[in-house]
Amino acid sequence: MSETYDVVVVGAGPAGYVCAIRAAQLGLRTACVESGSYEGGLGGTCLNWGCIPAKALLESAALAHNLQHHGARMGVKPVEVEYDFPAAVKRSRMITRKLTAGVKYLLGKNKVDIVQGRGRLAGAGRVAVESDGETREIATRNVIFATGSVMKTFPGFELDGEKVIGSREALGLQELPAKMAIVGAGFVGVEFADVFNAFGVDVTLIEALDTLVPFEDPEIGKALERSFRKRGIRSLTNTRVRQLDREASPMVLTLVNPDGSETAEETDLVLMAVGRRPVTENLGLEKNGVAVEDGFIRIDGWCRTNQPGVYAIGDVAGQPMLAHVGSHEGIVAAEHIAGVAKHPMTYGNIPSVGYCHPEVASIGMSAAQAEEAGHEVVTGKYPLGAHGRALTAESADGFVKIVADAKYGEVLGVHMIGHNVSELVAEVGMARELEATLDELVRHAHAHPSMAEAVMEAAFAALGRSIHM
Ligand code: FAD
Repeated sequence: MSETYDVVVVGAGPAGYVCAIRAAQLGLRTACVESGSYEGGLGGTCLNWGCIPAKALLESAALAHNLQHHGARMGVKPVEVEYDFPAAVKRSRMITRKLTAGVKYLLGKNKVDIVQGRGRLAGAGRVAVESDGETREIATRNVIFATGSVMKTFPGFELDGEKVIGSREALGLQELPAKMAIVGAGFVGVEFADVFNAFGVDVTLIEALDTLVPFEDPEIGKALERSFRKRGIRSLTNTRVRQLDREASPMVLTLVNPDGSETAEETDLVLMAVGRRPVTENLGLEKNGVAVEDGFIRIDGWCRTNQPGVYAIGDVAGQPMLAHVGSHEGIVAAEHIAGVAKHPMTYGNIPSVGYCHPEVASIGMSAAQAEEAGHEVVTGKYPLGAHGRALTAESADGFVKIVADAKYGEVLGVHMIGHNVSELVAEVGMARELEATLDELVRHAHAHPSMAEAVMEAAFAALGRSIHM
């Protein structure tokens, strides 16, 4: 064993690499262990097979869709739109490579040692790293698990990489099917529905719960379903998949409808998007008494596990499983170890975004949650149908709904669907950090024309002083 590290981070996704950089910035001797093979695994799921390549394809999809469906009306008449999905994939991989190289550079610049291999806790203050059949041990004062998550599936729908695929395969498809069934209409499912529909695939979304994006305000899911219908994306909600005949050509999917009856659907490809599960196996957790609850490593607000010197961050440490949550936890954990942490993690003000078109974004409480929390609630809703900036962008589907405390005017949450709402959510997040009120939101002269004005208009509506409605 060589010199003892202050911190060894296991996993170099957005949780792990951010944590390692922050720890090193604070003068802690830091190593980051990563087992992935693609581009060295740096950047984890997010950069390699998640957020970034998916958003790159969504931008290609938006271009394809706009040219095809809005181009002529907007004065740009395409001669003939030809789809080249492999080219879109190639571009997405180039962006991914650029960013993963950036992570390597940043780790190096901050003097974080990158250790290639699979890490596990070998005992108090010891991490064993296995690589190419050999194991070596690293001594460390603190271990931070940032091992992320992998796709879930269920019996009969196991991934085979050809007929039944997951998001990873979907991000690299070289040939598009005529018909695709997407199982699960969370953010990942609806984003892929958007991408493949724009590239000419006949897409059916199948969701067991009541609406698309079922963890959002129900009005959002319904509005998204309407927008998707206009684009030719079929949504089957309250519908479960029961079995798949992979031998048939095309394959036959048996669906259980809302009334319990069954329907057979033909499809060329099934894309599973039913969520992800944390990676906790072979990490030495049980042997070393690290508590796991509901499959996730259990942590407190400083990302400490129940064992001294052992932390966990990111997808492996619980919901919400989002890149920005992991990165934030990474900073909190590093600062806690360095003794400079000021604020523990709080999870009540985390933005949640789906980058399909129209985009979906929310933060804070729904009206029902606010009432349950004891607030007297006031809401304001502003539809985008006559909103100047939305109309100029040829994208007037959607609305902004704001939830506030009726007595004090404090902004409690916002729920939106529409053009570029992924960017609007930051304003409300910051307003909530500062405990801003509706009055303060409308006091700021929002740039005109901008989508951000829609947040101001929703606040005006909640105050009963709508201008543009
Ligand atoms: P990961 O990114 O999964 O990284 C974990 C790393 O640990 C991996 O590199 C893995 O190889 C490594 N590892 C695992 N075990 C070991 C071990 N024993 N030793 C060493 N290394 C190990 N989130 C968003 O916030 N916004 C989005 O737009 C978004 N889009 C997504 C789109 C798709 C298609 C998918 C699949 C996910 C998306 N996510 C998005 C979720 C996001 O990717 C994850 O929340 C995020 O990557 C979690 O970060 P992490 O660092 O915890 O884990």
